[in-house]
Amino acid sequence: IQTIPSEVHRPCSVMLLVNPHSGKGQALSLFTGHVQRMLNEAGVPHTLVITERQNHARELVREADLSQWEALVIMSGDGLLFEVVNGLMEREDWEEAIQTPLGILPGGSGNALAASIHHYSGAQPVSSEELLVSCGFLLCKGLVSRMDLASVHLGSSPSSPTRLFSFLSLAWGFVADVDVESEKYRHVGAARFTMGTLVRLASLRVYKGRLAYLPVDKVDGAEEDGQSPVSLEEMTSVSPQRQPPSSAFCSSTLLCRPSKDSPCQNAAYHTFHNSCYSNKAFKVKKREPMSANATLTGPPDSLLVPLDQPVPSDWVVVPEEDFVLMLAMYQSHLAENLYAAPDSTLDDGLIHLIYVRAGISRTALLRLFLAMEKGTHLANNCPHLVYARVRALRLEPYSPKGVITVDGEVVEYGPVQAQVHGGMARLITR
Ligand code: ADP
Ligand code: MG
Repeated sequence: IQTIPSEVHRPCSVMLLVNPHSGKGQALSLFTGHVQRMLNEAGVPHTLVITERQNHARELVREADLSQWEALVIMSGDGLLFEVVNGLMEREDWEEAIQTPLGILPGGSGNALAASIHHYSGAQPVSSEELLVSCGFLLCKGLVSRMDLASVHLGSSPSSPTRLFSFLSLAWGFVADVDVESEKYRHVGAARFTMGTLVRLASLRVYKGRLAYLPVDKVDGAEEDGQSPVSLEEMTSVSPQRQPPSSAFCSSTLLCRPSKDSPCQNAAYHTFHNSCYSNKAFKVKKREPMSANATLTGPPDSLLVPLDQPVPSDWVVVPEEDFVLMLAMYQSHLAENLYAAPDSTLDDGLIHLIYVRAGISRTALLRLFLAMEKGTHLANNCPHLVYARVRALRLEPYSPKGVITVDGEVVEYGPVQAQVHGGMARLITR
């Protein structure tokens, strides 16, 4: 984007996608009340796009002329960023498209990525409006860092596997159930997960399945054996143009200010602007599972074999088949107050895998979740909890019905596998 000559095709604005129904349904008023003036004073021109329905943002981003946009920022929960990431990865020019700087302003009930980037900035934990203001500042500073993505294969039909991209988490069992069941408490905001956890604890159950993973050590060991490490460049068929690790996107030379005759007043701008404020009243309806990318654009997953074949011999197959939860995280926070993967950084190229074996008591599980608020759960010596740093994993649930979530969004239930792609996306942070 930044190499396009400015006279001809100047990138002009930040596209700011707002899901008006996320969280308590106040994302738009939170934006106008806490962030808009900040952005104006910092000279960050932005165009508001109010989403009208699920997948609206995904479709917009899939079709958008990205040379018009300096960055794509969402004001919502993690679900809207999930749409944006997948919209970008479904494009034919995905390799370039995924280099578009992304940003997040917490306006939902699940603001895990926002909480993670606030945490990475070194600041003390905050929530709600304070978290929003913190992320607003980060957006104004506009420093861009690399962020890991995971490629997730869903294979309920092995002959036609589908794939999607994830920036946060893959969950099954207790955590995934809480995510879905707590939808009905979304009016309480981030507290929905606490309420959901308490309700689920009362009806604690066991989830059966087979879990396998490729530990980091195995990949590192392969390096020592003389095999070269797998880099993003090698995994992609054409090497992406690497950007410097961090660059200010909001320098005055790059951004134009919105004015009557600025290039922002073009067709694309009007199209988006016209779609604003035309929102229909929100009807609460059952959410459809997020669809995956059947055409498989994106980088090849060199660590994975097809789901109908056994995992490679250097993978660890977990001996137990009875679980309470499986949680794979690539960022530190699972929610504003759930510091689930304390070691995780934005682009460590790792999947932080946590699973809890069946047999844990309700009290011990509650203790784990309380410890997770401080990020001390891994040091708790809970005999049922296992933590591993992995590059790839596979889960084959045995029970015919259940819930799997990716970035907090329900996906098709069935066998699933994932591999991390280190630093594949770019995020406005720090
Ligand atoms: P929250 O954290 O409150 O759940 P999300 O950003 O995760 O907020 O959004 C919740 C869901 O709403 C996501 O599945 C997202 O794709 C979907 N969505 C986005 N825009 C709209 C809209 N205008 N109306 C209804 N659903 C939407
Ligand atoms: Mg969500």
